[in-house]
Amino acid sequence: MSQTSFEIQQAAVIGAGTMGRGIVMCLANAGVSVQWVDNNPQMLEQALTTVAETYAHNVRQGRIDQAEADARMARVSAAADYASIRNVDLVIEAVYENLELKQKIFRELDGLLKPEALLASNTSALDIDAIAAATRRPEQVLGLHFFSPAHIMKLLEIVRGAQTSPAALEAALSLGKRMGKVSVVSGNCHGFIGNRMLHPYVLEARKMLLEGAYPQQVDTALQGFGFAMGPFRMYDVVGIDLEWRARELAGKGQDAPEVQVDNRLCEMGRFGQKSGNGYYHYEPGSRQAEHDSEVDALVLRVSEELGFQRRDIGPEEILERCLLALVNEGAKILQEGIAGSAHDIDLVYLNGYGFPADKGGPMAWADQQGLADIHQRLLALETRQGDQWKPARLIGELAAQGKGFADR
Ligand code: NAD
Repeated sequence: MSQTSFEIQQAAVIGAGTMGRGIVMCLANAGVSVQWVDNNPQMLEQALTTVAETYAHNVRQGRIDQAEADARMARVSAAADYASIRNVDLVIEAVYENLELKQKIFRELDGLLKPEALLASNTSALDIDAIAAATRRPEQVLGLHFFSPAHIMKLLEIVRGAQTSPAALEAALSLGKRMGKVSVVSGNCHGFIGNRMLHPYVLEARKMLLEGAYPQQVDTALQGFGFAMGPFRMYDVVGIDLEWRARELAGKGQDAPEVQVDNRLCEMGRFGQKSGNGYYHYEPGSRQAEHDSEVDALVLRVSEELGFQRRDIGPEEILERCLLALVNEGAKILQEGIAGSAHDIDLVYLNGYGFPADKGGPMAWADQQGLADIHQRLLALETRQGDQWKPARLIGELAAQGKGFADR
């Protein structure tokens, strides 16, 4: 088989947690047979049951017939160890977000798999080159960043490491197509395209809580713009505790003023939807986010303790700060070559982050405003709030030429 026509027939997934389950279904649904490894046999057993139940549910809903459900399930099998997956064309690793653990797994797999096999990680933010460096086949290593729930969300970020070969990328793109995904190639940087842009956006939302806003007010403004969910409702769905635990584990970031509300919520066991309380309250068995005045009181307390003079923050300011934070980071991602085009960034935000479809994505929205206008607005924020608002070089350049991101 030539390098360019490399097609994935058999795959393995390492990890049978939240992401592993969805990824296994994506592969099986696309006709790829999957061997599944988890070092916790109970987890694997539970995961196989969940997949079978999901297919049974799909049959009851009339989405697939029984024969199709059986065929999909027949493609999935448990594997006892790495030796038994040595013949696969692709491994997707979805274990805990820990670089040393991932490197160890990649090193071991590299010694066992055939030379042309691809090794992919579902990491949300770790350095793909550092993972690839644990192997002797860095050109065959890449990120396949699925979004949760992986069998439902359309977006797939394909992360190209410094040495990932064009053939490996092509094989991943072709697999993405077979799985019915919207695939976007991203360069390797912390958080790739989507999560890197999410960071300054969420930071603004958190800062506004300290300055005078309340969670529901921030969410309502962004949902009014058309977002599927505001940032605090999103944190409740994802789990507020994930970042809290990651900060704890890394031993840094826990003291930043912006995360103090999150910290307090987690200390109270308010992790989000899964625990019935987070930024909002959830009745047992319900996903309906209900306003909780206890949370407003907590926000007020934390901001006063931190010495903030609270002020009224209107929906215009919420939109301005959150949207411009996205656009400015998007522009940096574009100028650094992390994304191939503004359209790719828009695809990520439309398909993975609930950006309103009628606005075309954050970069298309900025083009509609006019980049000269965006540039001025960023400069105004820089004057009022400081350096973090310094406009990306690309915005100034395009604005001076009367161009938009799409013309690049
Ligand atoms: P999870 O905790 O639900 O599952 C991890 C699984 O890995 C567990 O079943 C565990 O038993 C297994 N495991 C741990 N060490 C192992 C080893 N040495 N060998 C085999 N199996 C091992 O985690 P998750 O939420 O599915 O996340 C997995 C990866 O996907 C992480 O890198 C995460 O950052 C990334 N990710 C998560 C999300 C999300 O929303 N949860 C979204 C995108 C990417």
